[in-house]
Amino acid sequence: MLIDSHANLHAPAFAQDLPAVLERARARGVRVMATICCRLSEFPKALAVAESDPDLWCTVGVHPHHAGDDPAIPASMLATLAGHPKVIGIGETGLDYHYGYSSRADQLANLRAHAEAARRTGLPLILHSREADEDMMAFLDEQNAGADFAFVLHSYTSGAELARQACARGGYFSVNGIASFRNAGTVRGVIADIMPMERILLETDCPYLAPVPHRGKRNEPAFLPLVNDCLAAIKGLTPAETARQTTRNFFDLFQRAAPSERQERP
Ligand SMILES: [Zn+2]
Repeated sequence: MLIDSHANLHAPAFAQDLPAVLERARARGVRVMATICCRLSEFPKALAVAESDPDLWCTVGVHPHHAGDDPAIPASMLATLAGHPKVIGIGETGLDYHYGYSSRADQLANLRAHAEAARRTGLPLILHSREADEDMMAFLDEQNAGADFAFVLHSYTSGAELARQACARGGYFSVNGIASFRNAGTVRGVIADIMPMERILLETDCPYLAPVPHRGKRNEPAFLPLVNDCLAAIKGLTPAETARQTTRNFFDLFQRAAPSERQERP
């Protein structure tokens, strides 16, 4: 079994054919999926997707691109919404200085509110970081990340030093189709040399970032085995080994999604 830890199943891109998308995913062994909330206005949609199936989950959060829409979002509001049993994490939140759609000040304020919500709820924080290595390291430090709350750096494209520091704090990483891109040698190097296999999750980030040979097309969870094959090649393991380990890691991090003791652990 494979787990897509970061998908956007409630996105308009899937509005016409979500049942078929889920069916193709299952046919490829992708059973559990998390749909990631990127602004509060879409939370009801994300939650509806999660509630439609026992193996689907969602998060609550505001993407750094949209931080400026609601810069003073209270941690208490995020924590309250996260009280729903289908919500497994806080985010995604983070810092994106590449696009800079929201000011850095708004992004940081947004990020701190999410960290506080993670602290209050005990749920892990889902972090996005792009061209913001220094400030992300300062944030992890300032917030005592890893000790006060668990976290994952998703769609990792940052440098080696941030990966080292996140790793030292017990952070997780999620690997996606970028690892298959011809020009992503640096990312593959960080995955190979710094990320421990016990801390890696798989994700598609669909409908974005389709892995080779689908690059540029709409991505979907059925393409996750291609990401897993890539990870296996980078780590010198078999796809069965990386599938097993990433599944275990997902349930270690997202404990609210873990099968109850009554059920058999996958
Ligand atoms: Zn992201």
